[in-house]
Amino acid sequence: MAETIIVVGHKNPDNDAICAAIGYAELKNILADRDAPGYVYKPARLGQLPPETGWVLGKLGIPVPELIDHVDPGQKVILVDHNEVLQAVDGIEDADLLEIIDHHRIGGLVTAGPIKFHNLPIGSSATVVAKEFEREGIEPSKETAAMLLSALMTDTVLLKSPTATKSDHYQAEWLAKFAGVDAMEWGSQVIKSRGSGADLPIDRLVAADAKEFQVGDDIVFIAQRETVDGKAVMEREAEMRDYMKKVIAENGYRSFLLMVTDIIEEGSTFICEGDCALIDKAFGISVDVPGGVWMPGVLSRKKQVAAPILALG
Ligand code: MG
Ligand code: MG
Ligand code: MG
Repeated sequence: MAETIIVVGHKNPDNDAICAAIGYAELKNILADRDAPGYVYKPARLGQLPPETGWVLGKLGIPVPELIDHVDPGQKVILVDHNEVLQAVDGIEDADLLEIIDHHRIGGLVTAGPIKFHNLPIGSSATVVAKEFEREGIEPSKETAAMLLSALMTDTVLLKSPTATKSDHYQAEWLAKFAGVDAMEWGSQVIKSRGSGADLPIDRLVAADAKEFQVGDDIVFIAQRETVDGKAVMEREAEMRDYMKKVIAENGYRSFLLMVTDIIEEGSTFICEGDCALIDKAFGISVDVPGGVWMPGVLSRKKQVAAPILALG
């Protein structure tokens, strides 16, 4: 019987974490048929589908990956869109980690043996996966190309984020060709399918896309709510702050920073609860004010927010 290898993105998955996992599993299955029969690569996810992912997979007729909450000891695993233990599936320390496909900072995972670790400082993991298709000389199907392009476009905020590189522009056109779409038009449709998010349940509104970061001895929790209507989201500020305080109390975080990122206005409102001195120091602001602090041009948690905070650790 074929051995199953799980391909999985990070906790609180975003569109990139899920689509890159599906796309990479598909590539690996094609390569396995060619080079290494006996392995079956199965995409999985660690949380609820983001609304745009539900829309994309439904529209393209791509099956939703299985929801898992841990991996068993010895399970063969490939991580995509993350490489930090805090963000990875429970049980990862005792699993058999085969590969990492990512576009983040390196965060301290240690392996027993050598692995394929393909990490590039570019806009999305979907871009890295598209590059792997191209490098192997394999053309993605129309559906896979459209799915990967959706993730490239959400992760780079329609290529406007400072994380977007020449590679992302190139790979977006490359994918658009196979998908038979206009890259920008398709990307806008995907982003619109999210809605403003303002009517979501409070836990989803605040923390659907949230990550823990170790800063010295403390954990800082950074969430990002990307929206096409920042004002509508900010109307729920009091409720959001109450929820953030609850999350801090339950998890012992040092601080909880929420970025309400307005894709149309191209910037983020910072709201912080807990001990926000670290945030003030990293950005030279006083974040503890009603209404939060508007940060024009700040679109990327990774590059513009997490990096300066981690630098203080
Ligand atoms: Mg991600
Ligand atoms: Mg990503
Ligand atoms: Mg993101």
